[in-house]
Amino acid sequence: MAFEGLANRLQDTLSRWRGKGKVTEADVNEMMREVRLALLEADVNFKVVREFVAKVKERAIGQEVMKSLSPGQQVIKVVNEELTALMGGTQSKIEHAKQAPTVIMMVGLQGAGKTTTTGKLAKYLQKQNRRPLMVAGDIYRPAAIKQLQVLGEQLNVPVFTLGDQVSPIEIAEQAIAHAKENRLDYVLIDTAGRLHIDETLMGELKGIRDTTQPHEILLVVDAMTGQDAVNVAESFNEQLELSGVVLTKLDGDTRGGAALSVKAVTGKPIKFAGMGEKMDALEPFHPDRMASRILGMGDVLSLIEKAQAAVDEDKAKEMERKFRKAEFTFEDFLDQMAQVKKMGPLEDLLGMIPGMGKMKGMQDLKVDEKQIDRVEAIVKSMTVDEKQNPEMLKNTSRKRRIAKGSGVTLQEVNRFIKQFEDMRKMMKQFTRMADQSKKKKGKG
Ligand code: GDP
Repeated sequence: MAFEGLANRLQDTLSRWRGKGKVTEADVNEMMREVRLALLEADVNFKVVREFVAKVKERAIGQEVMKSLSPGQQVIKVVNEELTALMGGTQSKIEHAKQAPTVIMMVGLQGAGKTTTTGKLAKYLQKQNRRPLMVAGDIYRPAAIKQLQVLGEQLNVPVFTLGDQVSPIEIAEQAIAHAKENRLDYVLIDTAGRLHIDETLMGELKGIRDTTQPHEILLVVDAMTGQDAVNVAESFNEQLELSGVVLTKLDGDTRGGAALSVKAVTGKPIKFAGMGEKMDALEPFHPDRMASRILGMGDVLSLIEKAQAAVDEDKAKEMERKFRKAEFTFEDFLDQMAQVKKMGPLEDLLGMIPGMGKMKGMQDLKVDEKQIDRVEAIVKSMTVDEKQNPEMLKNTSRKRRIAKGSGVTLQEVNRFIKQFEDMRKMMKQFTRMADQSKKKKGKG
């Protein structure tokens, strides 16, 4: 997970103060020394760190904390608030022009994820019932036009191109006219990138900007490049006046420096975070939720949103009914797994649960996705009847056949079936308990 090192260090430091009934100025100084080191180690810009620590210190030593009932807890609250503020405070949404189309220029260095993000953004807009147009404005990289066309086909989003012999400025202009004619409401212009910032590139980008007057200029930067990403953002902002930043590859093990410094250094908010290579791996960036995640307070809101997007309401109700009647079958189990999988890597999900990071043993917990695949293989090797009737699996020759079919040992099949039965029993108990407490409440 991104931010892992920073999160662990900050949580370690802060947890030692959580229960403190009295916090002296010396305590605060010591704590801030550790916070400073943790941030520097996470590759946060040193000026940003200095200001951050000064702000937290001032508030922590002030009345607000010292006089409160639980000063230790209060300091953590201050750190949380200041981290949130550092990343921009509230979520920054993208513009929606009063008169369509809204024009968004995507800029960035080569390899940052510009073309991929253009596709993701198109998909994101599509989900909100918008009608985006992607524009192939990178005429220099040989495969760039093709890459965008492939994405367009995959997403069912139109792509505008005039090949690689027409200037990007003209392409952009004609694309906007095309969008107007066809009542498309977002124009996403994918522009050329270079390995480094150079004058020719900036000149061309300024040309596109001046002609198209975009509502947004979004810079795509790779979070893995740390402070380099921040420097790139600073240069692009000086030259083009950005409206926001998209931070890609936050799914990797970036130390987090870029996410924590970009806003403070450039004044421009992070609007989206790229969380993977797939087209749905783009998340609106919420500073408050990110701060909570870093401090191990969890991100329940994102978790709920993910669940809502992945889970089918009707199915969930049906599952609940089955749980109650203990009719839950292997088939249902597979269904559930598929829904959970749609929510993304389990490790990320666990990271969103408050306190999970600090729970005993949880720190080293690496969710073994392969184990899950094996369980899935076991269920898939069952016959339709077996999936519907777990009782049939008391039979050893059936289990042996399943083990063979799924490429696991007989013990593993036994273990899984036992777990499944235990789960069914537990569900029955739970629902009985829930029913009883409901009855009691009804009486009282
Ligand atoms: P461009 O040169 O800026 O247009 O970069 P591309 O869009 O071609 O992306 C470069 C590489 O980064 C590709 O392999 C993408 O799949 C990958 N990539 C882009 N965004 C993300 C992300 O959020 N997470 C991960 N893991 N990979 C990404």
